[in-house]
Amino acid sequence: MNNRLYGNLIFELSKEGRKGYSLPRNNYGTYEIPQELCRQEDAQLPECDELTVVRHYTNLSNNNFGVDTGFYPLGSCTMKYNPKINEEMAALPQFQNLHPSQPQETVVGAQALVDMLENYLKELTGMSAFTFKPYAGAHGELTGLMIIKDYHRDPRHNGLSRTKVIVPDSAHGTNPASAAMCGFEIIEVKSGADGLVDIEDLKRIVSLEGPNIAAMMMTNPNTLGLFETQIPVITKLIHDCGGLMYYDGANLNPMLGVCRPADMGFDVMHINLHKTFSTPHGGGGPGSGPVGVRDGIQLYLRKDVSPYNGNFAVMMRALAYILSLGREHIKEVGPLAVLNANYIKESLKDVYELPIDTICCHEFVFDGLKDKSAGVTTMDVAKRLLDYGYHAPTIYFPLLFHESLMIEPTENESKETLDGFIAVMRKIAEEAKTNPDEVKSAPHTTPIGRVDDVLAAKHPVVTYRQMLTANSQ
Ligand SMILES: *Cc1c(COP(=O)(O)O)cnc(C)c1O
Repeated sequence: MNNRLYGNLIFELSKEGRKGYSLPRNNYGTYEIPQELCRQEDAQLPECDELTVVRHYTNLSNNNFGVDTGFYPLGSCTMKYNPKINEEMAALPQFQNLHPSQPQETVVGAQALVDMLENYLKELTGMSAFTFKPYAGAHGELTGLMIIKDYHRDPRHNGLSRTKVIVPDSAHGTNPASAAMCGFEIIEVKSGADGLVDIEDLKRIVSLEGPNIAAMMMTNPNTLGLFETQIPVITKLIHDCGGLMYYDGANLNPMLGVCRPADMGFDVMHINLHKTFSTPHGGGGPGSGPVGVRDGIQLYLRKDVSPYNGNFAVMMRALAYILSLGREHIKEVGPLAVLNANYIKESLKDVYELPIDTICCHEFVFDGLKDKSAGVTTMDVAKRLLDYGYHAPTIYFPLLFHESLMIEPTENESKETLDGFIAVMRKIAEEAKTNPDEVKSAPHTTPIGRVDDVLAAKHPVVTYRQMLTANSQ
């Protein structure tokens, strides 16, 4: 690659005494830094001229793959393309320069916008009140479960024995983790062959454990992208035994404006604003996981789960997204996402294994190639996609299948883009038969080839100095 000419790290380009900056004039006077806060030695910083710095970072950024450069069919995270208007709104200096410790009377306008967002979320979910304090979905789950715990501990509900939470085996790993963190015991309910909650297994659990059940957590559509059609039966079973229903809102996207968790009988929920309402969240952040409760549970809505008021810029992106779509168009998000996912699924199911052959929602899961005789795995297909300029789908999740390959195109993609992806996926399936070694050794055109995942996870080299030692060993 081009940038190799210039060195891999900015430190390798450093030449003592080179400068690419000049500091602005000091208008504020000089102040002595207390001796104990001063460095004992000079910081080792790279010294480069401006053009070298610009080229270095531009070349690095060209190695990056993003939704602005190509199709990104990653499953289980929804929002990939975030309309630029949302970024512009969140970046307004009036918003960006707010400080979380500012006195309340100076942020009345910002608070009014958060209240406006709360009203839209109430309308979209049927819930009665939200808190915006949680910083992500998992934080929202923990908050929601704390609310459920407080509800049962209230002497009026007399639920001290309710120490168990039911979680489907298809659930995202954060569900059982949050429940355990909140001090609950987890009972797993099985999925049937159709990928939905197995009602018979749930009935068995409820008859054994009824008075001990605090709640059941559910994702709908579930992590296989399937709509849980038995929700009324499930919510009745849980409510009849005195438990509450928790809705994991990570997959709210296909339901937007079409149906509402509160109407299905859910009592407490979180929304991943970064997944459903637009915010770039690759690499682990930033996020926002507002928690909503239905009428009758507001009393327990906790606002003490974080200092300050949550990630304001994520909220502003969500508000801009909702306002720019409006009441009529927000209803089109779900059906379009569903259409795109089903179009890809139907166009590929003769060459990729589709374990649950039914209409999906916004995403679906293949179990690897249909013809596995040449030993080409889901990992190989994912790596080969990189050669053709596509980001890989989510792989080896959910854990229900051995060769999971989870595809979520979202509503924004054109038919031409979907057709291009389908053609490449078919080509890779063909190569898996005619030239399997080419697929197994992919990628061939990326700046680095196939990395050793285990070594990278177990012995990551994350600092420059360590890198030098590693190289010299
Ligand atoms: C992403 C996800 C979560 C966790 O949300 P974060 O915002 O990443 O903490 C929980 N459940 C499901 C189904 C998810 O897809």
